[in-house]
Order: sequence, then C-alpha cells, then structure tokens
Amino acid sequence: MFSNLKTSFFSRLDVRLTISSTGLLLALALGLCIFSYMRLEHLLEKQVDRILVDETHELVDDIAENKSVITGCQMFETDLVRRKYYRFDFRVLSSTGEPLYQSKIAAKIPFPALQHQRDFSTLRMPGKSAQYRMYERKIAMDDMPDLTVQIATEKRQDGHLLERFCDNLQLAFPVVLLLSLLCGMLVANKPRQIIKGIARVASRISSQNLQERLPVPPARDEVQELTLTINSMIDRLEKSFGETKQFTADVSHELRNPLFALKGTMEVALAEQRDVQEYRDTIVDCLERINFLIKMVNDLFLISRFEMKKINLDLSIFNIGEVVRDICDFFLPMAQEKRLHFTLERCDDVVISGDKTRVLQLLSNLLDNAIKFTPEGGQVAIQLLQHERDAQLRVCDTGIGIPESAIPRIFNRFYQVDEARSGTTRGTGLGLQICKRIVEAHGGIISVEPNVSRGVTFTVMLPANPHV
Ligand code: ADP
Repeated sequence: MFSNLKTSFFSRLDVRLTISSTGLLLALALGLCIFSYMRLEHLLEKQVDRILVDETHELVDDIAENKSVITGCQMFETDLVRRKYYRFDFRVLSSTGEPLYQSKIAAKIPFPALQHQRDFSTLRMPGKSAQYRMYERKIAMDDMPDLTVQIATEKRQDGHLLERFCDNLQLAFPVVLLLSLLCGMLVANKPRQIIKGIARVASRISSQNLQERLPVPPARDEVQELTLTINSMIDRLEKSFGETKQFTADVSHELRNPLFALKGTMEVALAEQRDVQEYRDTIVDCLERINFLIKMVNDLFLISRFEMKKINLDLSIFNIGEVVRDICDFFLPMAQEKRLHFTLERCDDVVISGDKTRVLQLLSNLLDNAIKFTPEGGQVAIQLLQHERDAQLRVCDTGIGIPESAIPRIFNRFYQVDEARSGTTRGTGLGLQICKRIVEAHGGIISVEPNVSRGVTFTVMLPANPHV
C-alpha cells in the first residue's frame, strides 16, 4: 500500500517536473558558484600581486634615496610594520644570490633561491597549509651593483574571504533548494490541473455521450492546440459513430420490408391447398425477392468495403471509348424493347488508367437508370469526349427527371426520389452511391443536372492517363 502510494506520488507529472527543474536549477547554481569562487580567487590574487609590485617600487625608491641597501631596507621595513591588513616580508639579494638584507616582520616566509625567470610565484611550506605569494624583481640603479628584491605575503586574508564566500553559499543552498522546489511545484501544478481536467472530461465521453467537448482554454498555446485536436478527434468519432448508426438503421429498415414481403408471400401460399402452378408462381416470386435481397447485400458489402478503403482497384490502362461502345451495344436491345431513341452521339478514344470492371459497373448503373426512368418513346443519348485532361462522359435522358430539391441527396445511400416512379422494377437506392464511390476512387467527379426541357444529365469526369 505504502509503496503504491510512493510510486504514484513520484510518477505524478508535477512532481517529476519539479524534481527535474530543481535538479537543473541546482546544477546551474553549482556551476555558477564554482565559477564565482574561481573568479574571486583569481581577482584576489591579482590584487595581492598589484600590492606586491607597489611595495617593491617603494623599497627601490627608499634604496635609491638613501644610496644604501641596508639603510633603504631599514627605512622600508619600518614602514612595512605599520601595514595591518597584509603582513609582508622581503629580502634583497646580490646578483649572485647572496642575501644582503632580510626583514623580520613575519620571519616565517620560506624565501627560495633566485627564481630568475619568474616574477610571481606561490610558495608552500612543506607539511603546512599556509601559502605565500611572492614577487621577485631585478633592480639596476646608477652607481650601485645589480640587486634582486623578493617580497612576499601570506595568502591568509584571501583564504578568509574565500572561506566566508563558501560559508554564505552553504547558508544560501537550503534556501535556494526550498524556493526552487516551491516554485517548481507552483509552476508544474498548472499543467497537471489542465491534464487532469482533460482526463476528467475525456473519461465521461463514450459512444453514448459523444456530444461532450473539452473546454478550450483562451490562451493560444500548446494546451489550446491539444484541446482543439482532441475536440476535432471527438467530432470525427461522433460523425463516424453517427454514420455507423445511420447505416445500421438504414440497412435494417431496407431489409425488413422485403423480408416481411417474402414471409407474407410464403404464408399466403401455405394458408390453403394450392395447385402445382400456384406453388410454382409463388416460388418464382420468392426467388425474385431473394435475388433482390442478394443484390442489396452485395451492393452494401461493396459500399462498406469502399468506406473502409478495402477496395483495391485492379488498375490497367485502357481506352474507355471501347468500353462505352461495348456497353451501349449491350443496352441497345433493352432500350429498343422500351421503344427508346438510344444513341451514342459521340465517342472519342480516351485512354484512362482505371479498374475496367468497376468502370463497366459505373456505366451500366447510369445507363440502366436512364432507360428505367425514361418512358416509352423517350431519348437516351451518350457522349464520351476528351475534355482537357479528363475523359468526360455524359448520359442524357428525356425521362421523368429529378426534382431540384432531391439533387443534393441523390447520391446518398438508399435515397430514392419516389419508389413509385421506378415502375415494375424496384431499385435498391444504392446504385448511384456505388457510382460515386467508383468515380471518387478513380480521382474523378460525378454530378447531375436537370435538363432544360425534360429529364436529367449525369456527367462523369475521369482523369485521362497523362502518359498517353
Ligand atoms: P435505384 O435506381 O436502384 O433506385 P439508384 O441509386 O441508382 O438506385 O438511384 C437512386 C434514385 O435516383 C432512383 O430511385 C431515382 O429516384 C433517381 N434516379 C436515378 N437516375 C435517374 C434518372 N436517370 N432519371 C430520374 N431519376 C433518376
């Protein structure tokens, strides 16, 4: 139980954000402290070096003024004793390194033999922590032999300052840690609350409750972008659920009527004794209805495969003009039987890349409708022409037409303007939906417009093959 609680606490977003931001801040602060410490140490050393140089000048002046090393050094030593902050010692050496004078102020400084090349150096007593900064300088004066001055001071004062600096840092560290934890918690709490809010609303959303949306925060930031993205995802889910529900309702409605009709026909046939011919007629009637149902189920299956994008077009490059001529030959007897004036007015050779079987299905649906909805004596005219980069097919009839109000819905699933208008052959209301799916799968457009006088014209644009 305890370990669970611990895990969930440390896996919280605000806690993780706080820990990482505090860690980062502390690493930065540590880096800054180390840099400041080194810089301070360097500056203090520079300051000591400057003082050593100044003191050396004074010593040289004293020796020059007195024209004697010993007197000049004594005078300078008397002055040096008065220095309170830094305690100096010095010695003056001959050019061969022989000590001519050595002060006795601190008397502990381990002056080395002549350094020659080096101006400044740090001296350490073996086995002791004390450090000394020393300056060595060669002096050449008129009427006097060459001398070398070594002057040094203990770096104790610098050490005190640096120690105080470190003490202050140690005091400040827990305060900075506490403050950065507090600030981190405060800052990280906001995204946590936002995410919890999103999770709260999202958990309420189900297939039964897809109307709910996340509240969109006013600030134009990533959170707003995330909320809008989730909302638009719910929009799409709602639309898709709606379509599925509608589809299920439509299918059950459309299947129920023919199934009840089938059941009714059979019940009537079985209600009393009948002769063989009557039974035969009933069976033929039932078969017709079953065939209708099979066609509807096949069409629905095809549409659902188009919707799920599971239809793989069997693409080939072919002349759609030949397909149009063949299909017109096929429908001609049907049109003649209905005494229609059926003409292929124009048929260009246009090469397209498409699925020949699906294109045939598209053309036969359109021609079948044109013949079905045009009364005896009417006209059906077909044209295929190359229109810019498209193959343009037009199927024009002088039939019963489609009312202006029905045109926006004419390609919808199961939509029929008026069942009674279909005459003897009852349709499924799925043909035009399949036409639209086929055309769109080929990257084309299908449209319908009423003719000025009578009937309608269906126009299909399919992209022509650009390589031909
Ligand atoms: P079906 O023909 O099986 O009913 P379709 O999807 O092919 O289904 O057609 C849907 C509806 O569109 C038809 O029921 C009819 O009302 C209307 N329609 C289609 N083509 C024509 C046409 N050429 N003339 C008049 N109405 C048409």
